[in-house]
Amino acid sequence: AERPGRVIWRNGTFMPWDDAVVHVNAVGHASVSAAFEGVHSYWSPDRSQLLGFRFRDHMRRLVDSLRMSRLQPAFDADELTAAAAELLSRVSVPGRDVYVRPWGFAVGLHREQMVPAGTPAEVVIDSWDFTSKLGRGTTCTLAVSSWPRTNANASPATMKVFSNYHNGRLGTIDARSRGADWPVFVNGNGEVTESSGACLAVVSDGVLSTPDLASGVLDSITRRTVLRLAAEAGVETLTRRIERTELYLADEVFLMGTAAEILPAVEIDGISVGDGHRAGPITRQLEELYHQVVRGAVTSYEEWLTPIKTG
Ligand code: PMP
Repeated sequence: AERPGRVIWRNGTFMPWDDAVVHVNAVGHASVSAAFEGVHSYWSPDRSQLLGFRFRDHMRRLVDSLRMSRLQPAFDADELTAAAAELLSRVSVPGRDVYVRPWGFAVGLHREQMVPAGTPAEVVIDSWDFTSKLGRGTTCTLAVSSWPRTNANASPATMKVFSNYHNGRLGTIDARSRGADWPVFVNGNGEVTESSGACLAVVSDGVLSTPDLASGVLDSITRRTVLRLAAEAGVETLTRRIERTELYLADEVFLMGTAAEILPAVEIDGISVGDGHRAGPITRQLEELYHQVVRGAVTSYEEWLTPIKTG
């Protein structure tokens, strides 16, 4: 197999990674007129196979983000799911987990930012190795960002578009300047939303709560996964408005996202969560369950997995 990063899928064809270039004038490729996804595929030791996790859901969200951006991709979610699976079958190496990065951007040399509605979108799919942190006891610290979340009525949080990430970057830099790993954004009403690249959940008195979509969060696929796994494990779940003070009083707090996976927080704004050192029991239970599901060790979630043929 070719290594991730040696071959890329671009508009229906595979090409050497070095040949997948754009002109510097093509403002569409990674600026306001671009939407993207981050997708994981995990090696399953039991099955000796790479398993794409919720590929179709990610591709559906990419197409939706492009549609809301008024760009026109030439591929639907099923075609992009098949393309990602084929790309992985070319690059997969036994034992390795692979991150998949599809994105779409306005075709052509646009010399102004106001790319018109209906502009065709190019779609590309790149990939690279990553190392999963599941089951390693990794934790993080959080800080409430001094930059509030972008108003979702101005730029919807449900669109996974690069332009939304200026806010995330400013918040991340702010959190790091105060010694924390990741920011937590509040919206204009002071309610908790999400982190820069992950959603957030709190556990209090055994009930798992995460901000509802109306609070202004990405419709995260990991969030959906966690809500389902928690419910099926008998944990009560709520999607609702969450006050900032609840962060400081919660028994457990964790981030959830494709890249973050399930990442327990042990401190927020210098205040300990739980014992301040390790994840609480419900977070640990969900992390373990998530770990088993993505590696194909639980048969009841087969519909989320895309088995990758290796050639
Ligand atoms: N919120 C933001 C802002 C993100 O960038 C991400 C990562 N895509 C998430 C939440 C988590 O989404 P998902 O679980 O679909 O990866």
